Amino acid sequence: MFLIVLLPVGFVIDRIFSGFYINEVRNQIEQSSSHYAQMLSNMMPPNILPMIEMMAGVSQFKLYIVDNHGVIIVNSGITNVIKGKTVPTEEISALTQGETIEKVSIDSNTGERYLVYGTPILKRQSFYGGVYVIASLEGIDQSLQKVRTMLLLAGSGTFFLALGFTYIISKKLSDPLIQMEKAARRIAKGDLDTRVRPTSKDEIGSLSYAINDLASDLQRYRDNQREFFANISHELRTPITYLEGYSKVLKEKLYQSPEEKEKYLDIIHEEAGRLSRMIGELFDLSKMDEGKILLHQEWIDMTEVLEGAIEKTSIQAKEKGLNVHLQVFGEAALAYCDGNRLTQVFINLLDNAIRYTETGTVTVDLWYVKDEIKITIKDTGIGIPETELPYIFDRFYRVEKSRSRQYGGTGLGLAIVKNLVELQGGKIGVTSSVGEGTCFELTFHRTAVENKEEEKR
Ligand code: ADP
Repeated sequence: MFLIVLLPVGFVIDRIFSGFYINEVRNQIEQSSSHYAQMLSNMMPPNILPMIEMMAGVSQFKLYIVDNHGVIIVNSGITNVIKGKTVPTEEISALTQGETIEKVSIDSNTGERYLVYGTPILKRQSFYGGVYVIASLEGIDQSLQKVRTMLLLAGSGTFFLALGFTYIISKKLSDPLIQMEKAARRIAKGDLDTRVRPTSKDEIGSLSYAINDLASDLQRYRDNQREFFANISHELRTPITYLEGYSKVLKEKLYQSPEEKEKYLDIIHEEAGRLSRMIGELFDLSKMDEGKILLHQEWIDMTEVLEGAIEKTSIQAKEKGLNVHLQVFGEAALAYCDGNRLTQVFINLLDNAIRYTETGTVTVDLWYVKDEIKITIKDTGIGIPETELPYIFDRFYRVEKSRSRQYGGTGLGLAIVKNLVELQGGKIGVTSSVGEGTCFELTFHRTAVENKEEEKR
């Protein structure tokens, strides 16, 4: 690009300089030759010619004079012009017609260039001959050569300077990109501790932050997943051990009373239920991953759905001596949702509220406001630390790993809840304070809900 600009500019500058110099010389020799021609046309005595020859011999410009037949009669010392010889006929005819002659001639011996200007000598319309004044172009050629050398030096200096700058800038741009490419490849290979050092605050800098965020997200996901697999195998093993142990006791009739037998049968039933719940959750999640969850949406009464879920969790609540309250505000309206999936959502949230609360109450509030249906499930339990809140909807995430041993659970419940709420056009949020309790808030937009109904029609 630089050369494309530089070369034509150099060429134009060269032309301007050489044009200027040659023009200067041309004007001078034109003046001089017309001056001599004027002089000769005024007085043409034969003895003036040697005088002119002598004067021109010591002046800056040399000359030669031809008579009206084109024969050279005066030469003030030009080596390749010979007295007595004739100039070309076309020059003579041009001079005869009163025209001037301008030409560049080259000395065949020295190779020197000359600018030649010829003016006719006219006296009362009669042609007497011509005066040729010549100027060497050597000085001009030398000056031009200097200008050209300077142009070339300046051009190549600027060119190399530009090349250096381009190299430095491109390196400055490409180095962080190369570093990021390497980091991305290391991350892809599973080296998730890799981080890129941001070097600037521009787009490249934000790309490094994005790569670092990606690496830490992947790292958290991988850690959670590893933990989940460790936990899930433990969670699966526990009920299976119970099932094996108690079924063996029953088979070998190792119980001592019918009551004891009943108790063992209850345990087997409970553990089988737990196992099936866990498998169900895993199955739901894998279906969500594939986007294969089918919703059976219809107009449902949210109050009824909530009452049903509270009813289903009432045994657990009673066992822990907890009260579950439902309060409804506003004028009841129907919502376009999947009743079974909503029940699953509420059971999950109520189950958590009861599980993580030792004393106090669980309050369920249902608001029918203008455009929305809002539900809050609030407990007075152990709460969730603020730093953990952003992750509790992540799959396999459990607050303080020791909690899960104590309370059971898989860390899948809230991930499923969030998915199901969002699939039905709703939103879920959480606020919590350690030692005081937790509050989950769900919102369903009624307008969005009605649009879905229209789409279906
Ligand atoms: P889990 O099956 O372990 O309960 P969830 O996905 O339902 O899994 O919940 C994720 C984590 O959030 C739980 O491990 C628990 O520590 C925390 N959590 C959920 N609900 C509550 C609550 N109401 N009170 C305190 N902690 C809660």
